[in-house]
Amino acid sequence: MNLNDYLKQARDGKYAIGHFNFVTGDVLRGIIEASRDAGAPAVMVGTSEGEASFIGMNESVALVKAMRDDLNYPIFLNADHFKSFEKCKEAIDAGYDSVIIDASRLNLEENIALTKQVTDYAHSVSASRRTDISVEGELGYLRGSSEIQTKIEINPADYSKPEEVADFVSRTGVDRMAIVFGNIHGIVIDQEEKLDIDHFSKIMAVEPRPYYVLHGASGLKDKDVVAAIKAGITNVHFNTELRVAYRNEIDKQFHAHPNETTPYKYLGPAVDEVKKLVTQKIKLFMGK
Ligand SMILES: [Zn+2]
Repeated sequence: MNLNDYLKQARDGKYAIGHFNFVTGDVLRGIIEASRDAGAPAVMVGTSEGEASFIGMNESVALVKAMRDDLNYPIFLNADHFKSFEKCKEAIDAGYDSVIIDASRLNLEENIALTKQVTDYAHSVSASRRTDISVEGELGYLRGSSEIQTKIEINPADYSKPEEVADFVSRTGVDRMAIVFGNIHGIVIDQEEKLDIDHFSKIMAVEPRPYYVLHGASGLKDKDVVAAIKAGITNVHFNTELRVAYRNEIDKQFHAHPNETTPYKYLGPAVDEVKKLVTQKIKLFMGK
């Protein structure tokens, strides 16, 4: 089964597949073990362009392949918010299972043209590789970044518009859609993050074909995430809180054991914190 098959099962079963970012092998293994142990049918792991350039695309593909074989568990590697055709092509050629072409900063026509170029390339490679490389497009202005921020203005004018989503999907042939309906990347500390589920339902009603993806789940209330999944979200991106948990535990270990130099002794507890969060989130995404 390929990624789109797992997303179809998730949509039919009204649950969501988790997506988590990694940049090191210890965190990758932690994410995968926790997802498997929490009962997720599959997991998506992603590298942003920055993360991919740190760890390497070939290295990411090789690590994921090794862990997939080692743990006998379905893991799909995603190029997360890649901004150009060249970068998406590089990821597909390296063996990524999935890409997000993020051209949401462009106007609608330019976004459609660039996204279609990536979709056409991915689908041509899929045919020759006898697999199905899944492509995600993005529409609407998704504010924020994968860190802790104080305040971000949320404007309903930034939301993805139902008619534009339908036009976008028809003309690009994307498998998945990243949309904006109140979600923000990262964590915002001085305001409550809240989803507009009614707005998402309007998009679903006008264009039911793609698998809808919720970005920026860090900072959202559990009940909002559950409501979004009930309304049709089949894939949830969760990243910033993992980074915070990992970093804070390393910090704690350094303070508690200032002379410790064995990496797995201070990284191990940090990975355990990542695993705890992934376990909680998978249970939430599975409706358990
Ligand atoms: Zn995202």
